[in-house]
Amino acid sequence: VKYSYDFGQKTDGSSKLRELLGGKGANLAEMARIGLPVPPGFTITTEVCTYFYDNGRQYPKTLEKEVKASVAQIEKEVGKKLGADKNPLLLSVRSGARESMPGMMDTILNLGLNDKTVKALASESGNEAFAYDCYRRFIQMYGDVVMGVQAVNENDHCPFEACLEKLREEAGVELDNELTADDLKELIKRYKAIIKKRTGTAFPQDAYEQLWGSIGAVFNSWQNERAILYRQKYGIPAAWGTAVNVQAMVFGNMGDNCATGVAFTRDPANGEKVFYGEYLINAQGEDVVAGIRTPNAIAQLKEEMPKAHADLEAVRKKLEKHFKDMQDFEFTVENGKLWMLQTRNGKRTGLAAVRIAVELVKEKLIDQKTALKKIPADSISSLLVAVFDPAAVKKAKVLTTGLPAGPGAAAGKICFTAPDAEAVAAKGGHAILCRVETTPEDLRGMIAADGILTSRGGVSSHAALVARQMNKVCVCGASEVVINYANETLTIGDKTFKNGDDISIDGTTGEIFAGAVDTAPSEVDQVLNGKLKAEDSYTFQMYDQVMKWADKHRKLGVRTNADSPDQAAAAIAYGAEGIGLCRTEHMFFEGDRITFMRQMILASDEAERRKALKKLLPFQRKDFNGLFKAMGGLPVTVRLLDPPLHEFLPHDESSKRELANSLGVDVDVISNRVHALHESNPMLGHRGCRLGISYPEITEMQARAIFEAAAACYKLKKPIKVIPEVMIPLVGFADELKNQVAVVHRVAAEVMEKKKVQFKYLVGTMIEVPRGALTADEVAETAEFFSFGTNDLTQTGLGMSRDDAGTFLGKYKDLDILPQNPFASIDAAGVGQLVEIGAQKGRSTKKDLKLGICGEHGGDPASIEFFHSVGLDYVSCSPPRVPVARLAAAQAAL
Ligand code: ADP
Ligand code: MG
Ligand code: MG
Repeated sequence: VKYSYDFGQKTDGSSKLRELLGGKGANLAEMARIGLPVPPGFTITTEVCTYFYDNGRQYPKTLEKEVKASVAQIEKEVGKKLGADKNPLLLSVRSGARESMPGMMDTILNLGLNDKTVKALASESGNEAFAYDCYRRFIQMYGDVVMGVQAVNENDHCPFEACLEKLREEAGVELDNELTADDLKELIKRYKAIIKKRTGTAFPQDAYEQLWGSIGAVFNSWQNERAILYRQKYGIPAAWGTAVNVQAMVFGNMGDNCATGVAFTRDPANGEKVFYGEYLINAQGEDVVAGIRTPNAIAQLKEEMPKAHADLEAVRKKLEKHFKDMQDFEFTVENGKLWMLQTRNGKRTGLAAVRIAVELVKEKLIDQKTALKKIPADSISSLLVAVFDPAAVKKAKVLTTGLPAGPGAAAGKICFTAPDAEAVAAKGGHAILCRVETTPEDLRGMIAADGILTSRGGVSSHAALVARQMNKVCVCGASEVVINYANETLTIGDKTFKNGDDISIDGTTGEIFAGAVDTAPSEVDQVLNGKLKAEDSYTFQMYDQVMKWADKHRKLGVRTNADSPDQAAAAIAYGAEGIGLCRTEHMFFEGDRITFMRQMILASDEAERRKALKKLLPFQRKDFNGLFKAMGGLPVTVRLLDPPLHEFLPHDESSKRELANSLGVDVDVISNRVHALHESNPMLGHRGCRLGISYPEITEMQARAIFEAAAACYKLKKPIKVIPEVMIPLVGFADELKNQVAVVHRVAAEVMEKKKVQFKYLVGTMIEVPRGALTADEVAETAEFFSFGTNDLTQTGLGMSRDDAGTFLGKYKDLDILPQNPFASIDAAGVGQLVEIGAQKGRSTKKDLKLGICGEHGGDPASIEFFHSVGLDYVSCSPPRVPVARLAAAQAAL
């Protein structure tokens, strides 16, 4: 097996080997292949990482030899030698997983420096301060990452940083690059002492020892806490492992003709086609991202280094042409010469994902299908999120403006720490995490917060990066914001805010407002509601374009789960093609209805029950009529009563008393009935079709309401040709369905006869218990359609109640027993199999049995892909998920 792949003049890898070389290694090889200037190096494969963890952190035997050969290849290409007293080769050692995990793992720069080689570097570069600056950086990184010299607790400052700060003070300078060679020599002495004191070991002088120490540290960092948390959040399997990239150093910190930077071929926050990025003159590595000095915008490089800027523009074009996507790349300029250190498909906000895909098609770089695949289906939601209400914005005072780094509107309580933000969010509140700059330690708080505000750091700072990825509202680098952690205050001009005060940030414009500013519907919603013209909203045009493309390619229909005309109308505006699930129980809670419902439940015999049902009938009929009208003839599936009856009764004493009074019965009557209806496991109890079988008069009333409402639609001056679909829930036995279908057919005939109108209707069932799926061939003899109720099918299939699963699912996720919440994303192997069996068996009886799904999973892209693959006809989801489902359905079909 080959463990080490070279890149440079000799290149073994390519972007096709991403799994083996990681994203960074694969693309370094690819850039070398297409003739971009890449410092030579090599990539140790992810297989070594797997081996490392499977074998008690040991390497494969042949690795050492391969690494030596690869180092020799670099030495040949650059004409320097690792550890040599003359012309020493310096290396970087970098992590690189299949998916980028920015800042989560460790990097070591300037490796190969020791007390001797640093002198060679000083004399050969003619720049002593530069050489010693590299050396002190190396010791600092090595001490931290490899030797584990870190802050001991939260209040402790990183010991190296503290030492550096003190030295800057002593030297009377503000910035690191103002330190003289002598200052730096002193700093190095102190750094070494820190290492010795804290670890009992001296900083190693041997270059190969340094190299192996660093390689080990990078592999170890795959299992650090940050990386683990990050993988959990983004569903990256631990088994992938990281590669390690070892590369010849180039120097952006040799003087004013040098620079280092990060750039995007387009704006990653809003997707606009502008060259975007930032750089620092005379700086190295992480300086730009770390936000220690505020970097300059890339446009300024045109003045400072016109040649390098022109080279970068050329690189920008070449990268997009080759990778056919927006690229996020890192570069260094060493004495005027441009070097490429990394490129990858840039992380972007949902808004940017849509815009970039649409515009790449316009520019003919990609075709429609590629564009559809490039937009994560969920990112359509970012076009639908609320914006600040323009009227409220007018009244609110703009305190200051920062860089718009994550579009959207967020209002909430000022929190200065991650735990504070988590605490506010845990109570259901909204937090705005306010930091001078963020670090990977803040990740938890950033996840919890609605918005992120930083006073320092630019568009490639950690805050901006994470915001893009998580689609968080973010304003960064707001330099007029003064944050004082010690006093827990945030000051802008003469206004001071405390921890917990309200603040609002607009991540689209960068504006910051005092207080909580009101929000308004998104531009897309405003256009859909006729409040804004389509031609005035580029956001709407993009949305519309993507939806048109999606509709052209998808095979799955998309319906919505809706119980009211309002919801139905909203879903139709988003492109729903029908209602896949109308939950009738929601209709029993409003106003007086609950009283009649309770009368029905408390009735002591059928006659009394029928009396109460009669009062409910007009309400139901009116509801269905409204729904049918709102849907204008599109299919509407109505599920008959599903929950156990006790859910409609009051449980606390005072409500019971109130009910007793209103019904004119003794409170004991109520108590006894509540007691009688109590179930130890209502999820598996007297519910679904079991209710209709016990009380056929309920089914009768609901069917009558549906058909009378439909009949009324046919009798309108402009008739609406409704084809109602009556759905019987929780069927496990074919005879259960037969029993209920007979009632429905009888009522249908009665209504048509009485109203003198004939119309089509369907009676079908939900498949939501395993027995129903396994005997679907029998069930299909009576059913005219199936809708897989994947919420209950997951509960019953896994024997796991949704309401209780929270107590252990977290642990399951940690242990990788269940990679994701099965109630959010379908458990394809288990529950999915039940769906597949149900579909196959159902269709073996009725070839064109209509099949749909109506659980939470109907709006989840991964689940939608699965439903497409098993040949369902449609998915049904909540109204705001409809656009997401349309796109996901298209992606499944591509
Ligand atoms: P991350 O994955 O966290 O971005 P990198 O491996 O990209 O970490 O390293 C961080 C930074 O170190 C890079 O952005 C670059 O500026 C610097 N760096 C890495 N390798 C080299 C090199 N060979 N020469 C100069 N700088 C380097
Ligand atoms: Mg990088
Ligand atoms: Mg159900």
